[in-house]
Amino acid sequence: VPAGRDRLRIAIQKNGRLAEPARALLASCGMSWRESRDRLFCYGESLPVDLLLVRDDDIPGLIADGVCDLGIVGRNVMAEQDGARRASGAAPAFREWRALGFGDCHLALAIPEGEAWESPAQLSGKRIATSYPALLSEWLAREGVQAEVVLLSGSVEIAPRLGQADAICDLVSSGATLAANQLKPVVTLFESEAVLAGPMQDLDAARGELVELLLRRLDGALRIRN
Ligand code: ATP
Ligand code: ZN
Repeated sequence: VPAGRDRLRIAIQKNGRLAEPARALLASCGMSWRESRDRLFCYGESLPVDLLLVRDDDIPGLIADGVCDLGIVGRNVMAEQDGARRASGAAPAFREWRALGFGDCHLALAIPEGEAWESPAQLSGKRIATSYPALLSEWLAREGVQAEVVLLSGSVEIAPRLGQADAICDLVSSGATLAANQLKPVVTLFESEAVLAGPMQDLDAARGELVELLLRRLDGALRIRN
């Protein structure tokens, strides 16, 4: 990985839902790349803009640390990590620069199909499985509900069947996964889509001009799509 800080570095998801649409969007802004053998780094050929291919969860931290200038990531991941930073007293270190109009989903609270839903108060004393502890805890606090947050990194939707939790808080798009697990969504906590994430402040002069060029092209591409 060349250090070259006159070049711009954008982090995108290596594999997963946002990997292809993120690359396609950047390609539609006139970028092309040469891929390294390990497929972790793509060297920009048409513009001095390189890609770093990573886990989506790493993207906000890479921006906060200045390792990458920008990233394409779900707003849900940004908000969760922002919430975790806030809870630990850390200053905000990244923000949403643009909404990108793909990767739509929402963070939903879901309970077993057979149970009646009346109000958040019924969650009091219950266990809720999630990969989004900060967003769930903020919502519980807002609702004045004390529940146990069970942190799971994956397969959250099977937790109720396993007797691990009474409810879940997970990302939903079509709802098919919930239905397949005999769960029903009852509250939407957070609406999400893919976003262009960047630092709180503008970038320095050399890369700033490159970012402006990129944003102009991106805004043009987004206008055509929407
Ligand atoms: P990684 O290996 O990069 O950590 P991941 O398993 O965390 O991948 P994906 O499942 O590929 O991530 O989801 C990436 C993003 O896609 C989510 O953070 C979210 O913003 C968006 N998304 C859209 N629809 C859904 C959905 N139905 N379930 C989960 N994520 C969705
Ligand atoms: Zn992830």
